[in-house]
Amino acid sequence: MQGDTIFGKIVRGEIPTDFVYQDDLCVCIKDINPQAPVHLLVIPRKPIARLVDASPEDQALLGHLMLKAGEIARSAGCGDAFRLVINNGEQAGQTVFHLHLHILGNKVYTESGL
Ligand code: 5GP
Repeated sequence: MQGDTIFGKIVRGEIPTDFVYQDDLCVCIKDINPQAPVHLLVIPRKPIARLVDASPEDQALLGHLMLKAGEIARSAGCGDAFRLVINNGEQAGQTVFHLHLHILGNKVYTESGL
């Protein structure tokens, strides 16, 4: 089934999950293996596998994800200091092939952090 990843099951409500935020287009959950004091995942309900698989018709959705990520980061207490990360492709570290934005906050990055 297309989009049948762990995140697909989560957004479809097949796995009980506490949502930090949800609306018609996306959900936000806590990462199960946090890499920062605040580590959240913003996941579109639409099962786009990778960022590069998004199409022009997804433009508004991608903007929505960015705007919500900023709002959620501030609601989570990150203030103005947080990072958004999208891993695109296996060689870039993507492990779940359902697009998601990592929100990483409340960690002090002394250099670029990349
Ligand atoms: P990626 O490596 O694909 O960019 O990120 C996948 C992220 O999803 C990882 O940070 C991993 O810890 C997280 N993750 C994987 N499975 C689950 C899960 O079942 N629940 C939650 N909350 N996070 C998960």
